[in-house]
Amino acid sequence: LNAGPFGELSERQRSWIDGVGLYRTEFIFLARSRFPTEDEQESEYRTELATYAPMPVVMRTLDIGGDKSLPYFSIAEENPFLGWRGIRMLLDEKEMLHSQLRSILKCTQDYPDRIRILVPMVTNIEEIHLLKEELSIVKSELIKEGFTQVQDVPLGIMVEVPAVAVMADKFAKEVDFFSIGTNDLTQYTLAVDRTNDQVGRLFEHDHPAIWKLVQQIQLAAQNEDIEVSVCGELASTLLGASGLIGLGIRNLSMKPSAILSVKKWI
Ligand code: PEP
Ligand code: MG
Repeated sequence: LNAGPFGELSERQRSWIDGVGLYRTEFIFLARSRFPTEDEQESEYRTELATYAPMPVVMRTLDIGGDKSLPYFSIAEENPFLGWRGIRMLLDEKEMLHSQLRSILKCTQDYPDRIRILVPMVTNIEEIHLLKEELSIVKSELIKEGFTQVQDVPLGIMVEVPAVAVMADKFAKEVDFFSIGTNDLTQYTLAVDRTNDQVGRLFEHDHPAIWKLVQQIQLAAQNEDIEVSVCGELASTLLGASGLIGLGIRNLSMKPSAILSVKKWI
């Protein structure tokens, strides 16, 4: 499931999901007029974990920038999609990064073995190393403060920048799982703004170039024995789901409205 502010799932939809493959944490930032505090974030994450108990929840760190700018934290950029977005921004804004990692790690005390962290817009391996350092700093701080039961969590990256797809074999050695973001992967591979209707007909998320990259990512994950899932829109179409399954991908995450049709089709 791609979780978000879509309202309650029906019982039937719920019975057909195995977990939350993508929880876009930016929604809780977008719904406010100022940054949520660490406590507010923790409470939102706890609600999400309680709602989907006992299933696993993949929490994506803040993916602000590009098409998702916060009214209370916007900067002017000529090319926002190529700019200060996702992990690029978060690594520069340590306070924000720490409050998010702290609130997520605190939840591991009461919801052990259910949380994974997913990092958006990764472009190079150094970003992963930096994030791992910050995670270990935050974890030791929490332990010192008395949160002795905080757990390590599996760390994964969104594969949505073409360079990462091309070099997937190297990235697969650095992380615990991949989640393929076909929305951005399509945008950046085909050089088509995903929000621009003028060029909408060129936004083909089932373009052969995308299939080739997905195959490469899947093989890299398989060779390193790490999990790979797809959380972009491609997974929610019948053709897309068929192709992904054909390539050996077994984890698809999608909006609630697509679940029944894709499950039936499979
Ligand atoms: C994607 O890029 O495919 C994705 C799932 O992330 P978002 O749509 O939030 O950018
Ligand atoms: Mg994306």
